[in-house]
Amino acid sequence: MEPLRQSVQYLKGVGPKKQKLLQRLSVFTVEDLVYTFPREYEDRRSVKTVQGLVDGEKTSLYLEVCGNIQEKNIRKRLKIYNLPVKDATGNAQLVFYNTPYIKQVFHIGDKVFVHGKVKIDFFTVQILHPEYHIIKEEQPQDFQQIMPIYRLTDGLTQKDFYSLQKYVLEHYIEQIEEFLPEDLLKNNRLCDLVFALRNIHFPTSSQNLRIAKYRLIFEELLILQLGLLLTKGQLDRNKEGIAFNKMPQLEDFINQLPFRLTEAQKKVLDEIEEDMESNMVMNRLVQGDVGSGKTIIAIIALYKAILNNYQGAFMAPTEILAEQHYETIRSLLGPFGVRVALLSGSITKKNKEKLLTEIETGQINIVVGTHAIIQENVRFHRLGLAITDEQHRFGVRQRVMLSNKGYNPDILVMTATPIPRTLALILYGDLDISIIDQLPPGRKVIETYCVDQHKRKRIYAFVRKQIQEGRQAYIVCPLIEESESIEAKSAIELYEELTNEYFQDMRVGLLHGKMKSNEKEKLMKAFKAGDIDILVSTTVIEVGVNVPNASVMVIENSERFGLAQLHQLRGRVGRGSYQSFCILINYGKNSVTLERMKIMESSTDGFVIAEKDLSLRGPGEFFGTRQHGLPELKIANLFKHIKILQQVQTEAKKILSEDPELLLEKNKGLKKKLLDTFQEKIQEIGI
Ligand code: ADP
Ligand code: MG
Repeated sequence: MEPLRQSVQYLKGVGPKKQKLLQRLSVFTVEDLVYTFPREYEDRRSVKTVQGLVDGEKTSLYLEVCGNIQEKNIRKRLKIYNLPVKDATGNAQLVFYNTPYIKQVFHIGDKVFVHGKVKIDFFTVQILHPEYHIIKEEQPQDFQQIMPIYRLTDGLTQKDFYSLQKYVLEHYIEQIEEFLPEDLLKNNRLCDLVFALRNIHFPTSSQNLRIAKYRLIFEELLILQLGLLLTKGQLDRNKEGIAFNKMPQLEDFINQLPFRLTEAQKKVLDEIEEDMESNMVMNRLVQGDVGSGKTIIAIIALYKAILNNYQGAFMAPTEILAEQHYETIRSLLGPFGVRVALLSGSITKKNKEKLLTEIETGQINIVVGTHAIIQENVRFHRLGLAITDEQHRFGVRQRVMLSNKGYNPDILVMTATPIPRTLALILYGDLDISIIDQLPPGRKVIETYCVDQHKRKRIYAFVRKQIQEGRQAYIVCPLIEESESIEAKSAIELYEELTNEYFQDMRVGLLHGKMKSNEKEKLMKAFKAGDIDILVSTTVIEVGVNVPNASVMVIENSERFGLAQLHQLRGRVGRGSYQSFCILINYGKNSVTLERMKIMESSTDGFVIAEKDLSLRGPGEFFGTRQHGLPELKIANLFKHIKILQQVQTEAKKILSEDPELLLEKNKGLKKKLLDTFQEKIQEIGI
C-alpha cells in the first residue's frame, strides 16, 4: 500500500484510543493527517521579559525555575499549582490548574520557554496555564517559532497533534509526490507540495506560510472545480437547438394573470425568451428565493414552447411537489386548451400506459412528474423545453437524461436554494444564471425568534393560540444527517410526546421519510385541506409545499440545520395573508451557533443568509451532505478566496480543453487526486 494511505494507527504514539479520537476529526490515514491544517498560528518569535509584560496579553518568555512548586486547594475540585520562575528583569509565577503531574515536571534551575496569558496584579506577575518547553540542547528556533494551533477534540492536545505532524513530516515527506503538472505550478507561481505541507504546519517565516497557503488553496479549489466541470462535461453549451418564435398569444396569457409580474420576473423572463428564440440550446438556471414567483415564469416559458408546437416537461423532486405544480399548470393553462399530464410513481399501470401513448403521440402537451419522467419507457413526440425544479435534489445525470428525451431541447433549471453568484459560477459552470431578486409586493415579513429549549411550553401555548384562531402549524424534528431511520424514530417520539402531553385535543399528523409515498401524500393532502392542525415532520416538507393557511413553523434543534435549509423551511409559512412566525428552538451554545441564529432572526433575504452561512461554514455543510457529494473544503473559503477561484476557473478550463479526459502523462497525478476526492461521485465523472 502507498505509505500515505496507511492508517494512522501505525504512527508512533497512536494507540487504539488515539486512533478513535483522530477518527472523530475525520483523520483515518496519514494523508488525512497531513491535510489537517492548523486552524490558526501563534507567533512565538518575539520574546518578552518579565518587566515588559502587559496584563491580559499572550506572550512568550524565557524563564528559569527558581523555587519549588506549591499546591493549593481552592475548592473541592480545584487545585492550583504555582511555580516560581524568574528572568534577569524580575520574578513571576507559572500557574497550572488541576494538573497533579506537573509536580514532577520541573526542577529548580530548569530553563523553560513558555507561552501563555499574562495576569498582573499588585504583587505578582503570573502566566496562566502556559504551554512550556524545557530547554535541553535545542536551539531557540526549535520552539521560538510560528506555532500551529490545531482544531482538537476532547482527549487530544495541541502537543499530540504537534508531535504527530512532526513525525509524519519527518518520516513520510519523501514519499509525498507532487501531483500538479509542472507548467501549472510555474504559470501560477505555486510552490511545490512538499514545501507547502512543511510550511503550512511549521512555517519558517510568515512569507513562507503565505506561499504555502496559497498553493494549498489553489490546489483545493482546482480539484473542486475540475471535479465539477467533469461531472457536467456532457452539457454542451454550444449546441444548436430550437429557435422558438415570438407568439402574440403569450402576451395575452401574461396580461390575464391575476397579478402583474414583478420587475425581477420580467427581467428573467426576457432572458429566458431571448435564449429560447436563439437557435442555440438554452442552459439556464433560475434562482429565486422561496415565494419569488419562479413557477409562473416556468409556466410562461412552457406555454411559449407549446404555442410553437413543441412539448414541455417539468420535473420536480417529490410527488407532492409534482402534484402541486401539476395543479397549478393545469388551472392556468388548461383554459387555453393545453393538455397537461401528471406522471408519478403512484399512478395505476393502466392509466400509465394510456398516458405514455398520449405523450408519445403528442396529444399531451406538458408532462409534469417526478424522476418517473426520465424512465426509459417515456418517449416524447417533440420535446422542446425541459424544466427541472429544485435542481439541487437531482444529480446532473438526471438533468442530462431529461434533456436526452428530446432533440436538443432547451433546458431550464430552477432552484430556491439561494446560492451566491460566486458559488453558482463554480457549481453550475455550464449554466447561464438568472436571478429573481425581488418578492411580489404585499408579502408580510415572517417574524423569526430563536429560543432556548426551556421555553418549549410557552411555544406550544403560542402554537395552540394560533390554531384556535384557525391557523395551522408545522413542527419540524431534528435533522439527523447520518440516518433517515433514526430521524424517523425521533419524529415518531416527538409526535407521541406532543399528542400525549401538549396537544391531546388537536389533530396532529406525522410525516417522515420512511413512510410510503402514498401515505405521505395522503397526509399532505389532509394538511392542505385543513383536516390536520399540526404537522409534525422531518425535513421532507422542506421543499416548495404550499399551504397558505399555515402560520407557524417550529424547528427543533435548529442548530443542526444549514441556514439555507432553515430558510427553506421558514418559507413554508407566510404564503397566505396571515402574519406568520418561525420559531427556532436551539440547543447550541457556542458563538457560531448563536451568530447563525441571529442571522435567521435578522434577515429574510435568502441570498444574504446564504452568504453569511457560507462564510461561517463550508459549502458541504451549507448544502447538507445528503444532497451534495461536494468535498469539504479544508483551507479554501469561497468568499475570501474569490480572486484565486477566478484564476483557478481559467486554469481548469484550460486543462480540460487541452486534455478533456486527463489522459496526458503530466495530468496523471491530477487525475488520481480527482478520483480520490470525488470517490462517491465517481460514476458521474467522465474520466
Ligand atoms: P416560488 O416557486 O418562487 O417559491 P411561486 O411561484 O410558488 O414561488 O409563487 C408564490 C406565490 O406567489 C404563488 O401563489 C404565485 O401565484 C404568487 N405570485 C407569483 N408571482 C407573483 C406576482 N408577480 N405578484 C403576486 N403574486 C405572485
Ligand atoms: Mg417553487
